[in-house]
Amino acid sequence: MSSAPSSIARLDIILLAAGAGQRFSPEASGLPKQFQKLQQKSLISHCLERFLSWPDCGQIILVLPPDMVNDLPLAIKDELSAYANRVTVIAGGASRADSALHGLIALDRTDKISRYVAIHDAARPLVSHRLLDTLKSALEGGADGVIPVLAVSDTIRQKISDSPMADSRVIDRNSLMRVQTPQAFQTGRILAAHQKLANAENKASFTDDAMIAEADGAKITLITGDEVLKKITYAEDLTAMRQEISQMETRTGSGYDVHKFSDKKTGPIMICGLAIPHPKGLLAHSDGDVGLHALCDAIFGALGTGDIGHFFPPSEAKWKEAASDQFLKFASDCVKEAGGRIIHLDVTLICERPKIGPYREQMKNRLAEITGLASSRISVKATTSEGLGFTGRQEGIAAMAQATLSLPATDQAKIE
Ligand code: MG
Repeated sequence: MSSAPSSIARLDIILLAAGAGQRFSPEASGLPKQFQKLQQKSLISHCLERFLSWPDCGQIILVLPPDMVNDLPLAIKDELSAYANRVTVIAGGASRADSALHGLIALDRTDKISRYVAIHDAARPLVSHRLLDTLKSALEGGADGVIPVLAVSDTIRQKISDSPMADSRVIDRNSLMRVQTPQAFQTGRILAAHQKLANAENKASFTDDAMIAEADGAKITLITGDEVLKKITYAEDLTAMRQEISQMETRTGSGYDVHKFSDKKTGPIMICGLAIPHPKGLLAHSDGDVGLHALCDAIFGALGTGDIGHFFPPSEAKWKEAASDQFLKFASDCVKEAGGRIIHLDVTLICERPKIGPYREQMKNRLAEITGLASSRISVKATTSEGLGFTGRQEGIAAMAQATLSLPATDQAKIE
Protein backbone atom coordinates (compact mmCIF):
# COMPACT_ATOMS: atom_id res chain seq x y z
CA MET A 1 0.00 0.00 0.00
CA SER A 2 1.45 3.30 -1.06
CA SER A 3 -1.08 5.58 0.58
CA ALA A 4 1.38 8.11 1.91
CA PRO A 5 -0.22 11.56 1.80
CA SER A 6 -0.01 12.80 -1.72
CA SER A 7 1.04 16.30 -2.54
CA ILE A 8 -1.59 16.71 -5.25
CA ALA A 9 -4.39 18.71 -3.68
CA ARG A 10 -7.02 17.63 -6.15
CA LEU A 11 -10.11 15.54 -5.71
CA ASP A 12 -9.99 12.15 -7.42
CA ILE A 13 -13.34 10.60 -8.22
CA ILE A 14 -14.55 7.04 -7.86
CA LEU A 15 -17.75 6.77 -9.87
CA LEU A 16 -19.72 3.71 -8.82
CA ALA A 17 -21.79 2.32 -11.68
CA ALA A 18 -21.56 -1.42 -11.00
CA GLY A 19 -25.00 -1.92 -9.46
CA ALA A 20 -27.77 -4.00 -11.02
CA GLY A 21 -30.41 -1.48 -9.89
CA GLN A 22 -32.96 -4.06 -8.85
CA ARG A 23 -35.64 -1.51 -7.89
CA PHE A 24 -35.45 0.05 -11.35
CA SER A 25 -37.37 -1.78 -14.09
CA PRO A 26 -35.02 -1.37 -17.00
CA GLU A 27 -36.37 0.27 -20.12
CA ALA A 28 -36.36 -1.36 -23.54
CA SER A 29 -32.56 -1.38 -23.62
CA GLY A 30 -32.52 -3.86 -20.71
CA LEU A 31 -29.56 -2.00 -19.21
CA PRO A 32 -29.25 -0.97 -15.56
CA LYS A 33 -30.33 2.56 -14.66
CA GLN A 34 -26.87 4.14 -14.79
CA PHE A 35 -26.81 3.39 -18.55
CA GLN A 36 -30.22 4.94 -19.20
CA LYS A 37 -30.33 8.19 -21.11
CA LEU A 38 -31.18 11.64 -19.92
CA GLN A 39 -31.10 14.22 -22.73
CA GLN A 40 -29.32 11.84 -25.13
CA LYS A 41 -26.57 10.97 -22.62
CA SER A 42 -26.29 8.15 -20.10
CA LEU A 43 -26.38 9.01 -16.39
CA ILE A 44 -22.70 7.91 -16.27
CA SER A 45 -21.83 10.38 -19.00
CA HIS A 46 -23.64 13.21 -17.19
CA CYS A 47 -21.57 12.52 -14.07
CA LEU A 48 -18.29 12.33 -16.02
CA GLU A 49 -18.99 15.56 -17.87
CA ARG A 50 -19.78 17.41 -14.67
CA PHE A 51 -16.72 16.10 -12.83
CA LEU A 52 -14.28 16.63 -15.71
CA SER A 53 -15.39 20.22 -16.29
CA TRP A 54 -14.67 21.04 -12.64
CA PRO A 55 -11.18 22.58 -12.42
CA ASP A 56 -10.01 20.63 -9.34
CA CYS A 57 -10.98 17.21 -10.69
CA GLY A 58 -8.12 14.69 -10.48
CA GLN A 59 -8.37 11.28 -12.08
CA ILE A 60 -11.59 9.35 -12.38
CA ILE A 61 -12.04 5.63 -11.74
CA LEU A 62 -15.27 4.37 -13.28
CA VAL A 63 -16.45 1.13 -11.66
CA LEU A 64 -18.66 -0.94 -13.96
CA PRO A 65 -20.36 -4.36 -13.68
CA PRO A 66 -17.59 -6.97 -14.20
CA ASP A 67 -19.30 -8.52 -17.24
CA MET A 68 -19.33 -5.16 -19.02
CA VAL A 69 -15.76 -3.98 -18.56
CA ASN A 70 -14.44 -5.77 -21.62
CA ASP A 71 -17.72 -5.83 -23.46
CA LEU A 72 -19.26 -2.39 -23.12
CA PRO A 73 -22.81 -1.93 -24.42
CA LEU A 74 -22.50 -0.26 -27.81
CA ALA A 75 -24.63 2.70 -26.74
CA ILE A 76 -22.14 3.87 -24.13
CA LYS A 77 -18.95 2.66 -25.80
CA ASP A 78 -18.89 5.79 -27.96
CA GLU A 79 -19.70 8.05 -25.06
CA LEU A 80 -16.90 6.65 -22.95
CA SER A 81 -14.35 6.84 -25.75
CA ALA A 82 -14.63 10.63 -25.48
CA TYR A 83 -13.30 10.45 -21.91
CA ALA A 84 -10.69 7.70 -22.46
CA ASN A 85 -7.71 9.88 -21.53
CA ARG A 86 -8.93 10.81 -18.09
CA VAL A 87 -11.12 7.92 -17.01
CA THR A 88 -9.94 4.46 -15.97
CA VAL A 89 -12.59 1.76 -16.22
CA ILE A 90 -12.41 -1.12 -13.74
CA ALA A 91 -14.64 -4.01 -12.62
CA GLY A 92 -16.76 -3.72 -9.51
CA GLY A 93 -17.27 -6.31 -6.78
CA ALA A 94 -20.17 -8.18 -5.24
CA SER A 95 -21.30 -5.32 -2.99
CA ARG A 96 -21.20 -1.53 -3.06
CA ALA A 97 -18.42 -1.60 -0.46
CA ASP A 98 -16.42 -4.05 -2.61
CA SER A 99 -16.82 -1.84 -5.66
CA ALA A 100 -15.65 1.23 -3.73
CA LEU A 101 -12.65 -0.73 -2.43
CA HIS A 102 -11.77 -1.87 -5.97
CA GLY A 103 -11.89 1.78 -7.00
CA LEU A 104 -9.66 2.91 -4.12
CA ILE A 105 -7.12 0.17 -4.84
CA ALA A 106 -7.04 1.10 -8.52
CA LEU A 107 -6.44 4.71 -7.52
CA ASP A 108 -3.70 3.71 -5.08
CA ARG A 109 -1.91 1.85 -7.89
CA THR A 110 -1.59 4.98 -9.99
CA ASP A 111 1.35 7.30 -9.52
CA LYS A 112 -0.65 10.50 -9.44
CA ILE A 113 -3.01 9.83 -6.56
CA SER A 114 -4.52 12.98 -5.08
CA ARG A 115 -4.78 13.91 -1.43
CA TYR A 116 -8.57 13.78 -1.56
CA VAL A 117 -11.12 11.42 -3.09
CA ALA A 118 -14.86 11.57 -3.63
CA ILE A 119 -16.97 8.45 -4.00
CA HIS A 120 -20.15 8.96 -6.02
CA ASP A 121 -23.11 6.91 -7.20
CA ALA A 122 -23.75 7.29 -10.94
CA ALA A 123 -27.48 7.20 -10.19
CA ARG A 124 -27.18 10.85 -9.08
CA PRO A 125 -26.31 12.55 -12.37
CA LEU A 126 -26.77 16.24 -11.56
CA VAL A 127 -23.61 16.95 -9.52
CA SER A 128 -22.94 20.67 -9.19
CA HIS A 129 -19.56 22.36 -9.12
CA ARG A 130 -20.71 24.37 -6.14
CA LEU A 131 -21.12 21.16 -4.15
CA LEU A 132 -17.70 19.86 -5.24
CA ASP A 133 -16.12 23.18 -4.15
CA THR A 134 -17.76 22.85 -0.73
CA LEU A 135 -16.66 19.24 -0.28
CA LYS A 136 -13.08 20.10 -1.17
CA SER A 137 -12.85 23.11 1.12
CA ALA A 138 -14.13 21.03 4.05
CA LEU A 139 -11.32 18.53 3.40
CA GLU A 140 -8.79 21.35 3.12
CA GLY A 141 -10.09 22.54 6.48
CA GLY A 142 -8.97 19.20 7.94
CA ALA A 143 -12.16 17.08 7.83
CA ASP A 144 -11.56 13.30 7.64
CA GLY A 145 -14.69 12.90 5.59
CA VAL A 146 -17.48 15.18 4.40
CA ILE A 147 -20.98 14.28 3.20
CA PRO A 148 -23.93 16.23 1.75
CA VAL A 149 -27.15 15.90 3.75
CA LEU A 150 -30.66 17.28 3.44
CA ALA A 151 -33.50 17.73 5.90
CA VAL A 152 -36.52 15.42 5.80
CA SER A 153 -39.76 17.23 4.99
CA ASP A 154 -42.20 14.30 4.93
CA THR A 155 -43.65 12.95 8.14
CA ILE A 156 -41.84 9.68 8.82
CA ARG A 157 -43.40 6.62 10.42
CA GLN A 158 -41.59 3.61 11.74
CA LYS A 159 -43.14 0.14 11.70
CA ILE A 160 -43.07 -1.47 15.09
CA SER A 161 -43.05 -5.01 13.74
CA ASP A 162 -42.57 -6.66 10.35
CA SER A 163 -46.15 -7.75 9.70
CA PRO A 164 -47.85 -5.91 6.80
CA MET A 165 -50.55 -4.43 9.06
CA ALA A 166 -48.03 -3.59 11.74
CA ASP A 167 -48.57 -0.81 14.18
CA SER A 168 -46.40 2.17 13.55
CA ARG A 169 -45.36 5.36 15.22
CA VAL A 170 -44.26 8.75 14.02
CA ILE A 171 -40.64 9.54 14.57
CA ASP A 172 -39.27 13.03 14.97
CA ARG A 173 -38.22 14.09 11.49
CA ASN A 174 -36.16 16.97 12.88
CA SER A 175 -33.58 14.45 14.02
CA LEU A 176 -33.38 12.80 10.59
CA MET A 177 -31.30 13.62 7.54
CA ARG A 178 -31.11 12.27 3.99
CA VAL A 179 -27.56 11.43 2.98
CA GLN A 180 -26.34 11.98 -0.59
CA THR A 181 -23.19 11.38 -2.59
CA PRO A 182 -20.53 12.43 -3.59
CA GLN A 183 -18.94 11.77 -0.21
CA ALA A 184 -15.39 13.05 0.04
CA PHE A 185 -12.50 11.88 2.20
CA GLN A 186 -8.81 12.17 2.86
CA THR A 187 -7.71 9.45 0.44
CA GLY A 188 -5.42 7.55 2.86
CA ARG A 189 -8.08 7.56 5.54
CA ILE A 190 -10.92 6.06 3.47
CA LEU A 191 -8.64 3.50 1.82
CA ALA A 192 -7.47 2.25 5.24
CA ALA A 193 -11.08 2.10 6.50
CA HIS A 194 -12.24 0.10 3.48
CA GLN A 195 -9.29 -2.29 3.73
CA LYS A 196 -10.06 -3.02 7.38
CA LEU A 197 -13.65 -3.82 6.48
CA ALA A 198 -12.76 -5.94 3.44
CA ASN A 199 -13.29 -9.29 5.14
CA ALA A 200 -15.94 -8.31 7.66
CA GLU A 201 -19.10 -10.41 7.64
CA ASN A 202 -21.44 -7.48 8.18
CA LYS A 203 -20.06 -5.60 5.18
CA ALA A 204 -23.41 -5.48 3.38
CA SER A 205 -24.90 -3.43 6.20
CA PHE A 206 -22.61 -0.52 5.32
CA THR A 207 -24.69 1.38 2.75
CA ASP A 208 -22.32 4.29 2.25
CA ASP A 209 -18.67 5.18 2.62
CA ALA A 210 -19.16 7.59 5.50
CA MET A 211 -20.39 4.65 7.65
CA ILE A 212 -17.23 2.74 6.76
CA ALA A 213 -14.97 5.69 7.56
CA GLU A 214 -16.82 6.30 10.82
CA ALA A 215 -16.44 2.65 11.86
CA ASP A 216 -12.70 3.24 11.57
CA GLY A 217 -12.85 6.29 13.83
CA ALA A 218 -13.02 9.02 11.20
CA LYS A 219 -15.01 12.12 12.01
CA ILE A 220 -17.64 12.99 9.41
CA THR A 221 -18.47 16.61 8.60
CA LEU A 222 -21.92 17.47 7.23
CA ILE A 223 -22.59 19.99 4.49
CA THR A 224 -25.89 21.01 2.90
CA GLY A 225 -26.71 18.76 -0.03
CA ASP A 226 -28.51 19.59 -3.21
CA GLU A 227 -32.15 18.80 -4.06
CA VAL A 228 -31.26 18.43 -7.76
CA LEU A 229 -28.80 15.70 -6.83
CA LYS A 230 -31.70 13.26 -6.52
CA LYS A 231 -31.01 9.59 -6.83
CA ILE A 232 -32.61 7.68 -9.67
CA THR A 233 -33.99 4.58 -7.97
CA TYR A 234 -37.26 3.84 -9.74
CA ALA A 235 -38.12 4.25 -13.43
CA GLU A 236 -40.51 7.07 -12.42
CA ASP A 237 -37.56 9.00 -10.96
CA LEU A 238 -35.92 9.07 -14.37
CA THR A 239 -39.14 10.15 -16.09
CA ALA A 240 -39.54 12.97 -13.57
CA MET A 241 -35.94 14.11 -13.98
CA ARG A 242 -36.30 14.09 -17.78
CA GLN A 243 -39.30 16.38 -17.51
CA GLU A 244 -37.62 18.61 -14.99
CA ILE A 245 -34.48 19.28 -16.97
CA SER A 246 -36.11 19.62 -20.36
CA GLN A 247 -37.72 22.91 -19.43
CA MET A 248 -38.84 25.06 -22.31
CA GLU A 249 -38.12 28.73 -22.71
CA THR A 250 -39.61 31.38 -24.99
CA ARG A 251 -37.42 33.10 -27.54
CA THR A 252 -38.18 35.75 -30.12
CA GLY A 253 -36.43 36.71 -33.35
CA SER A 254 -36.93 39.48 -35.87
CA GLY A 255 -36.54 39.57 -39.63
CA TYR A 256 -36.54 42.26 -42.33
CA ASP A 257 -36.54 42.02 -46.11
CA VAL A 258 -36.79 44.29 -49.14
CA HIS A 259 -37.21 43.63 -52.85
CA LYS A 260 -37.17 46.18 -55.64
CA PHE A 261 -39.84 46.55 -58.29
CA SER A 262 -38.59 46.01 -61.83
CA ASP A 263 -39.50 48.17 -64.83
CA LYS A 264 -38.81 45.21 -67.08
CA LYS A 265 -40.97 42.61 -65.33
CA THR A 266 -44.68 42.46 -64.83
CA GLY A 267 -46.61 40.93 -61.95
CA PRO A 268 -48.12 39.05 -60.32
CA ILE A 269 -45.81 39.22 -57.30
CA MET A 270 -45.55 36.72 -54.48
CA ILE A 271 -46.40 38.01 -50.98
CA CYS A 272 -46.72 35.61 -48.06
CA GLY A 273 -46.99 32.69 -50.45
CA LEU A 274 -49.84 34.19 -52.52
CA ALA A 275 -49.64 35.46 -56.11
CA ILE A 276 -50.97 39.03 -56.03
CA PRO A 277 -51.72 40.93 -59.26
CA HIS A 278 -49.43 43.93 -59.71
CA PRO A 279 -48.31 45.86 -62.80
CA LYS A 280 -44.60 45.46 -61.93
CA GLY A 281 -42.66 42.34 -61.01
CA LEU A 282 -39.90 42.11 -58.39
CA LEU A 283 -36.14 41.87 -58.85
CA ALA A 284 -34.96 38.83 -56.92
CA HIS A 285 -32.91 35.69 -57.18
CA SER A 286 -35.80 33.66 -55.79
CA ASP A 287 -39.47 34.61 -56.19
CA GLY A 288 -38.80 37.73 -54.08
CA ASP A 289 -41.45 37.05 -51.42
CA VAL A 290 -40.55 39.63 -48.77
CA GLY A 291 -43.14 38.32 -46.31
CA LEU A 292 -41.78 34.78 -46.35
CA HIS A 293 -38.15 35.94 -46.31
CA ALA A 294 -38.70 38.21 -43.29
CA LEU A 295 -40.52 35.37 -41.48
CA CYS A 296 -37.68 32.93 -42.21
CA ASP A 297 -35.15 35.36 -40.78
CA ALA A 298 -37.31 35.92 -37.70
CA ILE A 299 -37.37 32.15 -37.07
CA PHE A 300 -33.64 31.74 -37.75
CA GLY A 301 -33.08 34.72 -35.42
CA ALA A 302 -34.96 33.05 -32.56
CA LEU A 303 -33.06 29.81 -33.20
CA GLY A 304 -29.79 31.74 -33.39
CA THR A 305 -28.73 29.80 -36.48
CA GLY A 306 -27.97 32.56 -39.00
CA ASP A 307 -30.06 34.07 -41.77
CA ILE A 308 -31.84 33.00 -44.92
CA GLY A 309 -28.79 33.75 -47.08
CA HIS A 310 -26.80 31.29 -44.99
CA PHE A 311 -29.17 28.42 -45.77
CA PHE A 312 -30.18 29.44 -49.31
CA PRO A 313 -27.29 31.45 -50.79
CA PRO A 314 -28.23 33.55 -53.85
CA SER A 315 -24.92 32.32 -55.32
CA GLU A 316 -26.45 28.86 -55.74
CA ALA A 317 -28.21 28.39 -59.04
CA LYS A 318 -30.75 25.97 -57.58
CA TRP A 319 -32.48 28.79 -55.66
CA LYS A 320 -32.98 30.87 -58.83
CA GLU A 321 -36.66 31.76 -59.06
CA ALA A 322 -37.28 29.30 -56.27
CA ALA A 323 -40.68 29.33 -54.57
CA SER A 324 -40.08 30.75 -51.10
CA ASP A 325 -42.68 28.60 -49.34
CA GLN A 326 -40.01 25.88 -49.19
CA PHE A 327 -37.74 28.29 -47.26
CA LEU A 328 -40.40 28.89 -44.62
CA LYS A 329 -41.17 25.17 -44.48
CA PHE A 330 -37.45 24.54 -43.92
CA ALA A 331 -37.28 27.17 -41.15
CA SER A 332 -40.28 25.68 -39.37
CA ASP A 333 -38.77 22.18 -39.70
CA CYS A 334 -35.60 23.55 -38.05
CA VAL A 335 -37.71 24.53 -35.03
CA LYS A 336 -39.08 20.99 -34.81
CA GLU A 337 -35.61 19.53 -35.13
CA ALA A 338 -34.47 21.69 -32.21
CA GLY A 339 -37.24 20.08 -30.13
CA GLY A 340 -39.30 23.28 -30.11
CA ARG A 341 -42.43 24.75 -31.63
CA ILE A 342 -43.53 28.06 -33.14
CA ILE A 343 -45.85 29.93 -30.78
CA HIS A 344 -46.62 32.90 -33.01
CA LEU A 345 -45.62 34.58 -36.27
CA ASP A 346 -46.24 38.24 -37.01
CA VAL A 347 -45.41 39.94 -40.31
CA THR A 348 -45.86 43.58 -41.35
CA LEU A 349 -45.82 44.37 -45.07
CA ILE A 350 -44.73 47.89 -46.03
CA CYS A 351 -45.91 49.20 -49.42
CA GLU A 352 -48.28 51.71 -51.01
CA ARG A 353 -49.44 49.16 -53.59
CA PRO A 354 -50.68 46.46 -53.88
CA LYS A 355 -53.31 46.86 -51.17
CA ILE A 356 -52.87 43.98 -48.71
CA GLY A 357 -56.22 44.17 -46.87
CA PRO A 358 -58.22 42.13 -49.40
CA TYR A 359 -55.64 39.28 -49.21
CA ARG A 360 -54.92 39.31 -45.48
CA GLU A 361 -57.04 36.26 -44.53
CA GLN A 362 -55.82 34.24 -47.50
CA MET A 363 -52.23 35.09 -46.59
CA LYS A 364 -52.78 33.95 -42.99
CA ASN A 365 -54.25 30.69 -44.25
CA ARG A 366 -51.37 30.17 -46.67
CA LEU A 367 -48.81 30.76 -43.89
CA ALA A 368 -50.75 28.33 -41.66
CA GLU A 369 -50.61 25.76 -44.44
CA ILE A 370 -46.85 26.14 -44.94
CA THR A 371 -45.94 26.04 -41.25
CA GLY A 372 -48.62 23.69 -39.94
CA LEU A 373 -49.70 26.33 -37.41
CA ALA A 374 -53.26 27.31 -36.55
CA SER A 375 -54.05 30.55 -38.40
CA SER A 376 -54.90 32.11 -35.00
CA ARG A 377 -51.15 31.95 -34.30
CA ILE A 378 -50.34 34.00 -37.38
CA SER A 379 -50.70 37.73 -37.90
CA VAL A 380 -50.43 39.56 -41.21
CA LYS A 381 -50.43 43.37 -41.02
CA ALA A 382 -49.73 46.06 -43.57
CA THR A 383 -48.83 49.72 -43.63
CA THR A 384 -47.93 52.36 -46.17
CA SER A 385 -45.02 54.78 -45.64
CA GLU A 386 -47.22 57.83 -46.30
CA GLY A 387 -45.44 58.39 -49.60
CA LEU A 388 -42.04 58.65 -47.90
CA GLY A 389 -38.89 56.74 -48.77
CA PHE A 390 -38.42 53.96 -51.31
CA THR A 391 -41.61 52.17 -50.33
CA GLY A 392 -43.48 55.47 -50.45
CA ARG A 393 -42.14 56.13 -53.96
CA GLN A 394 -43.24 52.58 -54.87
CA GLU A 395 -39.72 51.57 -55.82
CA GLY A 396 -39.90 48.46 -53.70
CA ILE A 397 -41.72 46.48 -51.06
CA ALA A 398 -40.47 45.73 -47.53
CA ALA A 399 -41.51 43.40 -44.72
CA MET A 400 -40.72 43.13 -41.04
CA ALA A 401 -41.45 39.98 -39.03
CA GLN A 402 -41.34 38.65 -35.51
CA ALA A 403 -41.24 34.95 -34.55
CA THR A 404 -41.94 33.67 -31.04
CA LEU A 405 -40.69 30.15 -30.37
CA SER A 406 -40.79 27.70 -27.48
CA LEU A 407 -37.43 25.94 -27.31
CA PRO A 408 -35.78 23.49 -24.90
CA ALA A 409 -33.59 25.43 -22.48
CA THR A 410 -30.77 22.92 -22.92
CA ASP A 411 -27.95 25.39 -22.36
CA GLN A 412 -29.64 26.61 -19.20
CA ALA A 413 -28.73 23.47 -17.24
CA LYS A 414 -25.53 25.14 -16.03
CA ILE A 415 -23.25 23.20 -13.73
CA GLU A 416 -23.05 25.72 -10.95
MG1 MG B 1 -35.41 38.48 -49.84
